[in-house]
Order: sequence, then C-alpha cells, then structure tokens
Amino acid sequence: MNKIYDVIIIGAGPAGLSAGLYAARAKMDTLILEKERAGGQIVTTDEVANYPGAVEDATGPTLIARMVEQAKEFGAELKTDEIVDTDFSADIKKVITKDGEYSARSIIIATGASPRKLGCPGEAKFTGKGVSYCATCDGDFFTDLEIFAIGGGDTAVEEAIFLTKFARKVTIVHRRDELRAAKSIVEKAMKNPKIDFMWDTVVEEIKGEGILQSAVFKNTKTGQLTEYNASEEDMTFGMFVFVGYIPQTDIFKGKIDMDDRGYIVSNETMKTDVEGVFVAGDVRQKTLRQVVTAVSDGAVAAVNCEKYIEEKFE
Ligand code: NAP
Repeated sequence: MNKIYDVIIIGAGPAGLSAGLYAARAKMDTLILEKERAGGQIVTTDEVANYPGAVEDATGPTLIARMVEQAKEFGAELKTDEIVDTDFSADIKKVITKDGEYSARSIIIATGASPRKLGCPGEAKFTGKGVSYCATCDGDFFTDLEIFAIGGGDTAVEEAIFLTKFARKVTIVHRRDELRAAKSIVEKAMKNPKIDFMWDTVVEEIKGEGILQSAVFKNTKTGQLTEYNASEEDMTFGMFVFVGYIPQTDIFKGKIDMDDRGYIVSNETMKTDVEGVFVAGDVRQKTLRQVVTAVSDGAVAAVNCEKYIEEKFE
C-alpha cells in the first residue's frame, strides 16, 4: 500500500461520490473509502422528490447506484474498509484502516451523520426486533400492524406518511405540541386518515420478550406514564425513531476544527483548518442538509482539492 493517491475521500454517500466523480474526472488519482455499503442516509429513503431532475420513480438506492457507476466510470477506486485513525499532520496524509494504511496528498471528509438514538431502556435490545431507524428498510415488516414514529421534524413526518403504506395506523409521538417539520409536509400528514398524534410525549421504556411488545410513554407536561401493549393477535408493533442525526466525526476529534455539536467547520471552498483537508456533505457545519447540497459540496471540495494539489505539489 505504498501508493500515494491525489485524494482519499472518506465516505461514499452523495457528497463523497460527487467528490469522487469530480476528482476522477479531473484525472486525480482518487480513492473513496467506505466502511459499510455506498449510499449514506439517502439509501434509507424511498422517495427523492426534491432532487432536481430526478426521474419520477427515483429512490435513494437507485440514485446512489447511478452515482457509484458514474464515479467508477471516471476512474475513481471504491474500497470498503473501516478507518480507525488518521494522521493529517504532514503534507502526505495518512489514513489507517482495519485492513492497512493509505496515503494521499489531500483528503475529503464526507462521513455524513447517523441517526440519533432515544437513549431509553430497551432501545438497543429491540433494535431490529421492532425498533428501527429506516422506514424504507423495515416498513414492510409491519404490514397491518401499528407503528409509532418518534420525532417532530421533516424526517419523522415524511417517513410516518410513507409508513402508512404498510401499517394499519401510524402514531407520531412528539415531545412538544407543535411539529418542527415544514408546513407542506405537516399538512399532508394531517390529512392522512391513518396518522394519529401523541403530543408532549417521550418514550420512557421499550419492552418485550424477544420482540417488541410494549412501550411506556411519558407526558412531558404532566409526567403521567401510559403503557401501550401489542394485542395478542398482533404480537408486536413498530417503533421508528427519527429524532435527528449525529455527525460522524469521532475519529477526527482534536485534529480538525468542529462546532460544539461536532460538525466540521469549513469555508465556502470546503477547506477545513487543516491544510489539504476538505469536507463535504452532512458532516459539515451548514444550514441545509439535503442530497442537492451534499453533491454540491462534493463538487466544490474536489475542484478546490485539485487547485490545492497543483499549487502545493506541482
Ligand atoms: P431534526 O429537524 O433535527 O428534528 C428532530 C426531531 O426530533 C425534532 O422534532 C426534535 O424535537 C425531536 N427530538 C430530538 N431529540 C429527541 C429525543 N431525545 N426524544 C424525542 N424527540 C427528540 O431532524 P430531521 O427531521 O431528521 O431533519 C434533519 C434535517 O434534514 C433537517 O434540516 C430537515 O429539514 C432535513 N430534511 C428535509 C427533508 C425534506 O426537505 N423533504 C426530509 C427529511 C429531512 P424538537 O422539535 O422539540 O426539537
């Protein structure tokens, strides 16, 4: 692994793949490293309604599959490997993975963000056994059953609407009495006869024997606890958690400037405070986290990476 790449892109979501496409097309020797499968959060979405120009039946997975193809067509190398450490202190940056070590003249961090957990007892135990963070992946398991969708943002309300395709009833559980989601999304949910709301409510505990069978809810205003139990006929129900995201920046802590929530700080050229290290997508401190802004970040990062390499190394 003595090869020195022009750029190593960390993460193969829309931001990383767009950066890969632009970098490889500019004839940079490009490696995209991804710890799981390519895609990021968008592969958990069934509908990509607000990506300009997306064909009508575009889904997260189909959009990503095409992005992967394009990046590869232009010559980007894509590897699955988990990064355990990085050393960005010298001109040649090092990325240490479970399987080895890679070197590059520049880095683009596009690690994205992952779903925030509720943190209540039982959540971890019943993940995959009733508790889910991905409607597209798991909605189908709850056909004709009841589902609780936790959260009040765009994701919770949009995914609750999607889940009504499967469930008998979807209850949106929100900790306040007003949704955070955009008005247009809220209106659609309010009109859906399968959607119900539980206001001022949080999940206190998740219980069951092997599979999810009951949940304890707490009213945030009165403190009153109520327990929901799956009927004997149903045996189980779904609990989909959509309470925001956490930036994937643990491995960069102390090495790169971040805000107090852990998002990487950059300027509009996607440069971080470390020379030769750029950032793109949801992991960056920004005001709008969407596929369209992620792919834009990726393109800007790759172009500025190229400029940096030209000035620094040639
Ligand atoms: P979000 O906007 O951060 O909303 C998270 C929701 O979860 C909030 O309603 C919050 O309550 C609630 N919450 C947070 N921690 C909680 C906890 N421990 N227990 C219970 N509830 C908790 O996250 P998001 O909905 O995933 O959206 C993330 C970003 O993606 C946003 O910028 C959003 O606009 C964007 N997005 C856009 C679209 C679209 O345009 N179609 C679709 C999906 C997402 P509070 O309201 O009380 O804080």
